[in-house]
Amino acid sequence: MEVPPVTERRELSCDVLVIGGGTAGTMAAITAAEHGSSVLLLEKAHVRHSGALAMGMDGVNNAVIPGKATPEDYVAEITRANDGIVDQRTVHQTATRGFAMVKRLERYGVKFEKDEHGEYAVRRVHRSGSYVLPMPEGKDVKKVLYRVLRQRSIREKVQIENRVMPVRVLTSGGRAVGAVGFDTRSGEFVTVSAGAVILATGACGRLGLPASGYLYGTYENPTNAGDGYAMAYHAGAELSGIECFQINPLIKDYNGPACAYVANPFGGYQVNAEGTRFVDCDYWSGQMMAEVKREIDSARGPIYLKLTHLPDETLTALEGILHTTERPTRGTFHAGRGHDYRTHDVEMHISEIGLCGGHSASGVWVDENARTTVPGLYAAGDLACVPHNYMIGAFVFGDLAGAHASAHRASSRDGGPAALPEEQIAAAHELVYRPLRHPDGPPQPQVEYKLRRFVNDYVAPPKTQARLGIAVETFARMETEIAEMGARTPHELMRCAEVTFIRDCAEMAARSSLTRTESRWGLYHDRADLPERDDASWMYHLNLRRRGDGAMEFVKRPVQPYLVPVAEFTVPEPGEPVVLAPAPATAPAAAPSRPAAAARPAMAVGRSPRLLELQELAETGPAVGEFGPYLADPDPKVRRAAVAALTEVVPDGVAAALAAALADGHGSVRRAAATALRELVEVLPATDRVRDALAPALGSGDALVRAAVLDVLRALRLGSPAVFADALGDADHRVRLQAVRGLVAHDAADGIARAAADASREVRVAVAHGLGTVGDPAAAGPLGRLIEDADDLVRAAALEALAGVACPPPLDAVAAGALHDPAWQVRTGAARGLAAASPGAAAGPLAKALDDPHLDVRKAAVISLAAFRDVPEAADALDRAQGDPDADVRAYARRGLSEAR
Ligand SMILES: Cc1cc2nc3c(=O)[nH]c(=O)nc-3n(C[C@H](O)[C@H](O)[C@H](O)COP(=O)(O)OP(=O)(O)OC[C@H]3O[C@@H](n4cnc5c(N)ncnc54)[C@H](O)[C@@H]3O)c2cc1C
Repeated sequence: MEVPPVTERRELSCDVLVIGGGTAGTMAAITAAEHGSSVLLLEKAHVRHSGALAMGMDGVNNAVIPGKATPEDYVAEITRANDGIVDQRTVHQTATRGFAMVKRLERYGVKFEKDEHGEYAVRRVHRSGSYVLPMPEGKDVKKVLYRVLRQRSIREKVQIENRVMPVRVLTSGGRAVGAVGFDTRSGEFVTVSAGAVILATGACGRLGLPASGYLYGTYENPTNAGDGYAMAYHAGAELSGIECFQINPLIKDYNGPACAYVANPFGGYQVNAEGTRFVDCDYWSGQMMAEVKREIDSARGPIYLKLTHLPDETLTALEGILHTTERPTRGTFHAGRGHDYRTHDVEMHISEIGLCGGHSASGVWVDENARTTVPGLYAAGDLACVPHNYMIGAFVFGDLAGAHASAHRASSRDGGPAALPEEQIAAAHELVYRPLRHPDGPPQPQVEYKLRRFVNDYVAPPKTQARLGIAVETFARMETEIAEMGARTPHELMRCAEVTFIRDCAEMAARSSLTRTESRWGLYHDRADLPERDDASWMYHLNLRRRGDGAMEFVKRPVQPYLVPVAEFTVPEPGEPVVLAPAPATAPAAAPSRPAAAARPAMAVGRSPRLLELQELAETGPAVGEFGPYLADPDPKVRRAAVAALTEVVPDGVAAALAAALADGHGSVRRAAATALRELVEVLPATDRVRDALAPALGSGDALVRAAVLDVLRALRLGSPAVFADALGDADHRVRLQAVRGLVAHDAADGIARAAADASREVRVAVAHGLGTVGDPAAAGPLGRLIEDADDLVRAAALEALAGVACPPPLDAVAAGALHDPAWQVRTGAARGLAAASPGAAAGPLAKALDDPHLDVRKAAVISLAAFRDVPEAADALDRAQGDPDADVRAYARRGLSEAR
């Protein structure tokens, strides 16, 4: 590729420019469009599958659901987790708007776990309040969002440019007026003129080097290389808390979260090699990470996520979440080592360091409307400094940024967006294309590896002044090496630009860590040479910004008076921000200019040209027929890619095309088609043509295909009871499971009961649940038989289902007896089933169940007791349960009693 002239460029314009199409960026774009702005969304990957959400999310980490927690609880909790250094006004936004966001996502089609009363089933993981809300189908959340972006009303206002990567925000008169970047596929230079700019480029995940040594094997989505941190810095915005790193617990040798958040509410916990529990359930914080690191480094290491003690059904449920979301290859990883949650606890480790507001606190300084210190420039999501904001906070701040930017953008009424500054455009052009001038210069992987190894050596905690000093010197020296990197293709140019962002972030991290002369946030800012927390000097935000002369300047900003007092912290008297003595400026080493080397054509290595053709085709919004040749290609890779492209484009007639692919000769293509049909089920038309197209696949030799077709037929309400009843005789239990679900959708209690003696435990559990859901009193007979099943989990499900059939005698007495069963799952099921029994049969046994050692049993009992609150014995028991050690039990008891009044 040759260096294009700076004047040869694609010029775009919009009211609101959103950079980064992940969690915060998509929400910002949707909201800005809903507020009437013309929106341009630039994403360096592809919006449908980019960013932290793309691999799926197992749940919301921080949902403040009314009745389960209060915004004040949450704000206090985050203040503690962040050692007092928070602008509570920002955290309060997430606390008060998170619930409306959960509802909005639900309207879009995202599913959240509900309890038997249809209420959000939040789990308790933290010291106070319950904030973790599981998402049973969290693997599809990004796809759901993408579908919303593609709805006609939004599509008309939002132009998406995939594979376009801005490198600098443009400013004029101190205001953000656009951005400049390039197309990572064609190499074309791109400028954008905008009324407001929203940065939503995620964390700086590629700062430290993972223990594996793989550049992209990071905890964070590896396309997030700190682009937004660097862009905000160069635009003159303040960044804050950059010394407060992100470090997370990991599965050892695997870049996926260990997921204690998921496993702990199921009964998992962390142990050392001696089998001793050493981390109490607590807010995810630097203190917790310090405990984890200490234990790993001690004679008691290594450490494990303990799961082997859990019952098989629980582990199957856990696998259903952990092996499909966030890092869906977890199952493959464990299997590769011959490990299974039933036989091996999971060895844990800690991740490389990164910068991330979402999991920690380091980010671009924003106010409660996502405004940065540069007018017209907003930041939302992981790159914004709103501590522990996670996914729901990214959505909330994306929404706030979209709304505020729309209302306050520069518009034609006030003279329109300013002319773009040509000298900044020329500097960005040089930054992007200089590697083409010396294509044989050091390649990006080599330079990036070296840079990030230095980050590990000199910046990762424990930090010391001596090490950080070397870091500052090293990163200044590396500016020259980075300027000499070589590239030949647009893709390589992207990687080279990313290295410049990583270097900027590394310098900010080292200098901030040097400047805050104390230890705080546990492991995140552990200064081994200054081990004490020093509130007198450092109960302040440490902000940094780029001065006009290019030097990095630090500002001590007082913590704003708290909205919610937190006893442990005293906020100093309000005062003005103080500029600290300038940190030593980085030597601005000019890159030696070299003669331009002969341009070489870009080459695509190791990929079938058919795949590239298909990619290009997908960008043009093709009709379904145009995919035909690719779906018939001899190479299954191409056919699979065609299925993926069909799912992305969703042309008219997509259902029939995917249905035909269910008959493909290659299993991976058939499965891709089955997954695609499930993914698109909400947008497929429920017509006879679709039913007829799917019908042949019911006879497929592939059980996964048969199961998927039944699932889709049920969801579209296209399957008759006879179709599902026939499938009860299938040889594969996964197909029979779908058959039961289909019959439940038809309220066909008789049909469901036919499967009560199925050989598979999972099917019998589904039968019990199904009979309870249908609620036909005649189901009491089959349920009575299932209550005698040899398997605990089937018995538990059958007892629970009694609640749906009025728990008639003599089954009420059987359920009361089951409250003494040795298996806690059976006792829980019995407590739930008794909710529908007569007060005489249920109130006494349920009141006694409040003394059960297992909290799930007590929780089920207290919920059921609310139905009998008019019975004095039940009211007394509810009163007593207000003193239960578990917060959920107490909350249900309170609610049971208050509803009585
Ligand atoms: C492994 C993992 C597990 C998690 N689990 C949970 C959980 O269970 N619950 C929870 O609440 N939260 C969880 N989180 C946190 C949550 O996912 C994030 O806080 C949130 O998704 C961040 O959103 P974002 O928009 O800031 O970043 P992202 O969603 O990552 O989006 C950033 C986007 O910007 C694009 N981009 C980057 N640079 C550029 C550029 N220069 N030009 C154009 N585009 C660019 C990227 O390609 C990406 O699409 C998890 C995060 C990770 C990494």
